[in-house]
Formats: sequence, C-alpha cells, structure tokens
Amino acid sequence: MQGTAEYLRSLNPAQHQAVTHDPSVPLQILAGPGSGKTRVLTCRVAHLVDHYSISPEDICAVTFTNKAANEMRERLKKLIGPERTMSLVMGTFHAICAKLLRIYGTRIYLNANFSICDADESKRIIKDLLKPHLAVVRDVPLTLKPAQVLSEISHFKAKGITPSQAKLAAVGTGHNFALNAISENSRIIAEVYEEYAKELKSTNSLDFDDLLIFGVQLLKTDPNIVKNTRHVLVDEFQDTNAIQFELMELLASANKCISIVGDPDQSIYGWRSADVENLQKMKTRLPTTVQIFLEENYRSTAGILRVCLAIISEDKKRIPKTLYTSHGNGPLPILNKCEDERAEGIFLAKEIRRLVAYSGGSFGYGDFVVLLRYNALSRTIETAFQREGIPHRFLGGKKFFERLEVKDLLAYLQVVDNPTFTPAFVRVVNIPKRGIGNKSIEELVAQAKKNGISPMAMVEGIVSDDIPDTKPPLRRKVAPFVKVILELRKQAKKGEYADELIRNLLELIEYQEHLKSTQPDWETRWENVRELITFASQMEPPSYTEDDESPPATDAELNVGPPAELNRGNITPLRHFLESSMLSTDTQTAEEEANKPKVIISTCHAAKGLEWPVVFVLLVFEGGAFPFARSEDHDEERRLLYVACTRAQGLLYLTHCQTRCTEGKLSHVLPAIALLNFHEIAFTSRKDLLPVLPEGDTSLIFKILQRPMPDSQEVQRLVAEL
Ligand code: ATP
Ligand code: MG
Repeated sequence: MQGTAEYLRSLNPAQHQAVTHDPSVPLQILAGPGSGKTRVLTCRVAHLVDHYSISPEDICAVTFTNKAANEMRERLKKLIGPERTMSLVMGTFHAICAKLLRIYGTRIYLNANFSICDADESKRIIKDLLKPHLAVVRDVPLTLKPAQVLSEISHFKAKGITPSQAKLAAVGTGHNFALNAISENSRIIAEVYEEYAKELKSTNSLDFDDLLIFGVQLLKTDPNIVKNTRHVLVDEFQDTNAIQFELMELLASANKCISIVGDPDQSIYGWRSADVENLQKMKTRLPTTVQIFLEENYRSTAGILRVCLAIISEDKKRIPKTLYTSHGNGPLPILNKCEDERAEGIFLAKEIRRLVAYSGGSFGYGDFVVLLRYNALSRTIETAFQREGIPHRFLGGKKFFERLEVKDLLAYLQVVDNPTFTPAFVRVVNIPKRGIGNKSIEELVAQAKKNGISPMAMVEGIVSDDIPDTKPPLRRKVAPFVKVILELRKQAKKGEYADELIRNLLELIEYQEHLKSTQPDWETRWENVRELITFASQMEPPSYTEDDESPPATDAELNVGPPAELNRGNITPLRHFLESSMLSTDTQTAEEEANKPKVIISTCHAAKGLEWPVVFVLLVFEGGAFPFARSEDHDEERRLLYVACTRAQGLLYLTHCQTRCTEGKLSHVLPAIALLNFHEIAFTSRKDLLPVLPEGDTSLIFKILQRPMPDSQEVQRLVAEL
C-alpha cells in the first residue's frame, strides 16, 4: 500500500481527482499536451487494482501504439508489481483484437491460424487485382494507384461499408453523372474492394482494418467473452475512429465503466477516419460521464510552451483551453534558416554533436529527436548523420520489419503457420534461387486458384505426386522448398520456439550464403537477421499451446473472462511471434536504448504522446513539409505541428531552408506562414544562443529532466578542447 500512497502524492489536485474518481462513473480527462494525461491513466489503472481491488485481468487499457503500451507496462510494474501488470489486458485496439480472435475466432468461423497482412502485402495484392481493370479502360484517363485504392478501401472499412454497399454507391455515381474518370474510378475501387476481400478470405488472412472489424463481429456474436471486464481505459481518445469507438463500447459492455483521456487539439488522424466527435458521442451514449480538465503542463519550459500555444491558437475553430506551466522560460526556441537541405542536415548533425560535447555528459544521443512531416525527408538527414558519425535510428513506421531479409524470414514462417497465405508463398518460393521465374509463379498461383486450392497445397501435391506436375521441371524445383516448410511445420506444431525455428530455417535454406551472393551489404543485413532472432528470443512465451484443431474455449473457461485466456488458446509460440512482429512498430527495447543511445528520426505522427529533452522539427516549405502539399486540411496540419513542438522538454529547434530540391528540381521555398505567425513568436536566432549552453536558464532544463547540472568547469574544459 505504500506504493499507492506514493503515486497519489506525486499528483496535483486535478490529477488526483481523476485518478481516484469513482470507477462506476464514466470519465473523460481532457487536457493539453504534457499535462500528465498518460500518467493519470497509468495511475488510475494502479488505483483500480490497488484501492478498488479489481482483478488486473478484468481491466482493459488501450494505448495508441505498442511502444506506449510497453512504456505503460514498465511504469505499472513499479506501481503494482510485475505479476499483476502482466495480467492486465493492455495494448492497441489492433493487438487486443488479434488476441481475442486467435482464441475465440472460430466462433465467427475464422481459422485460428489466420495471417496478419501488413500494408505492403495489401498493396501488392491490390496492385495485381488492379491490373486487369486498368487494362480494360481505354478512353478514360485513369490514375489509380494501389496505395490510393487501399486507402479508399480502408475508409470504407472504417465506416463499416461492405463491398456490395460500395459497389451500389459507385453505380449510383455512374447514373448521376456521365461516365468520367471519377465515376469510373469509384466503380473500379468498389470492384477491387470486393475482389480484395475475397482474396484475403481465401488466403486466410486479415488486414489491419479487418482485425477491428472481426473483433467487433466477435464481441457482438458473443458478448460473454468480455463479461468479466470491469473497466476499460483509452489513451489518445481524440484519434479513435467509429469502429474503435464501437469496440470500446463492446469491450465495456458488461458494466459500461470507461475512462478516456484525450486532447482535441492533438487530433491528427482525421485522414485515417479518426473522429474527434467521439468525445461528444461518448457523452451522449453515457450521459453520466464526468469531465475533468488538467491545466498544468509539466513537460516543457515556458518559452517552448508559449510558441506551441501560439501555433495552436491560430486555429479559430478550436475551443480555447487553459494550459500553463510553473517552469521558467528556459532558452527560447531556435529558428534556424539554412541555405538548402544539405546544409540543414549538416546543421542538425553539428548541433547535436556540439550539445552532447558541451553539456559535459548531461546530454546523450538518446536525448534528441528529429521530427519530419513525412518519411522521405529523412534521406538528407541520414546522409549527414552518417557522414558526421551521429548514431541514429528510425522510430515508428515498420522500418525494421520492412527490411528485405526480415520480410523473407517472416514470410517463410507465415507459410509454415498458414500455408494458404499466398503473398508470403509468392515472396519466398524462389528464395534462395531455385530457378522458378516470376512467370512460373504467376501461372502456379493462377492454376491453384482455378483448382480452388492454395499455391502451397498445389506444390505439396505436385511433390507428393498427388497432383500432376504442370510443367515437369517444376516438381524438382519446388521440392526443396516444400521439404523446408514441412520440416518447420512439424517443429512448429510441436511448440518449438520462434528463435529456434528461425535458426533452423537459416540453416535449411542456407540463408547467409544467399545474402552473400545477392546483397552487397549482406553484413548489415545479417546483423538484422541476428536482431530478429534476439527479438524472437525475448518474447514472453505463451503459457499454453494447442494445435489448430483445438476446440474453442469451453464455457467454463469463458467464465474466467478473456484476460486469462489471452495467453492461451490457439497461440503457439510461432503464432505469438508472428503476431508481435506484424503488429510491432518498434523493435528497440528500453534496455537496448539505454545501452546504445541514438538520435531518433521520426515522423511527427509516430512521436505522439512521447517527449525528448531536445527536439528538432523540420519546418515549413511551400510544396513541402508544413503544411504538407497534399493535405487539404490546414487545421490538421497545424495540430500536427503543435503535436511535434509539444514533444520538447528543454530545447526546441525549428529549421527551414531557402531552397530545396524536390523531385530533382531546385525551388525557392517560403516558410508557410499560414501555420505560424512568425513575428508574434519570440525566437532566439542561432548566434544569440551559444557558444556554450546558456547560463542561468539552462539549469531549468536539467531541473525538468531531473538530472544534475553539468559541472561548469568541466564544460569550460570541453569547450577549450574543441
Ligand atoms: P501528451 O498529450 O503529449 O500525450 P500527456 O498529457 O499524456 O501528454 P504525460 O506524458 O502523462 O502527459 O506527462 C508529461 C510529463 O510530465 C511526463 O514526463 C510526466 O512524468 C510529467 N508529469 C505529469 N504530471 C506530473 C506531476 N504531477 N508532477 C511531476 N511531473 C509530472
Ligand atoms: Mg499522453
């Protein structure tokens, strides 16, 4: 109980009220960045367990990213102990649904060994499906791209529109207007949507949207699954979409105890159908909902907060709210204009190196983040960092799991686990090279489809002589592949751990040799392979395994409620591993990060909810970053800039260039004043700030970070050395 008292003592009165609020009354905690929303949510979980004696397995906490779930888990381990923390149901909506579907999916006729199809694989499927459609249309200029079609399909799914409804709507368009590119495009998108859904079904796979859709379907079919859930908590609620709202309601259907935290000013996923109106919707659905506002920002210096508030206050439609800090000014944010993007990269690298050196050991590389509006901006930064020897890594996205070598190995394991998953089969049937060309693979897939079986079943049949060889040499070529898959399948069924399976796989296919002969940078790639093994070996093993034919959980098991089952059911170690890899957004563990601190490069979207001592935001270019040229919603762009700048604790840099090379063309760029009222904001220009970290105010940075001030003599010595 002493732990309890301690965490309550660290809260301000409004936070305390939120944490201790009666669990049976729905709660909305609305507040600006850095005001402790996530901290309050974490403490509330601890309080529900510790004070209200709610079993951890009956509490469901939803975070926006897996990284956030891990961080919350780490904090809770300290507050309520590792054992109780591990029993909590905690993760993103996607991860929670994936687990429920693994265990109970058979109740809605899903196979437990479904594969999770990532955006890349979805795009590849759509590309193939799109081809014949585009070939038929001649007179109408069509510009459909797989990514665009996928995003449209995703919007349909988020709104609960089925393929047949989409088709009907598209026909409607065609009747109303003359046949033109727009109506033709919608018709094609609707048709591809239908074919795509069929393709996923026949390959026994679900894309990310499906995880939510089927999750909803499952809980609607059998609400008993969550009948013991006593409390549902959701972080970053402003970015939930309609289907996630429905999921939240279903998860909480037993007694409607819900606590959410959110900030409408930070809603940045409108483009992915997130709906900030969900805040109002919750109040309408649960009229007893109480709202609590937090107004003190603990994260940033006053100088930084002032700039952030100046950015967001340009949004005339927003409801103003109070956000103040008791911290002093600190060094003012720094606006830095560079000649071009190359100079910008070098500026970042040098500035980081200088701060690390001058801070007398107080700043390490892990204290810096470079925030980008979109990923492609990272190229020049990376080049500069490589040249200047600044250790760095990407956050978010699926960078690690997107690498060729990682994808190859995962695809092999996917085929082992779910032989009907065609995209994985297509990827690796000819890796290492077995003389099976793309054309043969295409024919094989088409033939299998005609026969109503999967390509894997087809080659298995050919090798075992149950199916006649379509092209006689094929049998010989696919035989080694089939042998590897069968061998690993046997091991996986026995419950072999994923790291061991990967090691065996590497040996069976002589993967290192393959990399050596095909990839000039094979050594780095081999490092990634080893990293994957490490990742696999660090997984907490599922406590119980069954094979595919296991019956669905019994009613007796059901009475225990889902959380206890979440580690059980049809989750073999391999499946558990695949799921974590497919849903993972970041592989670096906190421990690794502490050992090898690196500057983070991240998109602004992925940085949501996080904080760093020093933040660089690559700023405004016309036709470039803020506002993003393709975005029509300038308010959302402004909120995104606000999210980016509010990540900073001690130092905030905004950089922009005079000229920039876009798509090979040099263009003059103007800061997009649309988002920022520059002259109203107090900035420091570079030359005023340094050579050494400014005295006086700088101490505030270290106070916020709760680190000792660098020894000034030591700093002087370092400066003299430089
Ligand atoms: P965001 O909107 O960016 O997600 P948030 O509202 O969730 O921000 P937190 O991340 O929970 O804010 O907290 C921001 C920082 O302030 C954290 O470092 C947290 O530990 C610290 N903090 C929060 N409340 C207090 C408090 N009462 N006393 C001291 N530090 C606090
Ligand atoms: Mg937060």
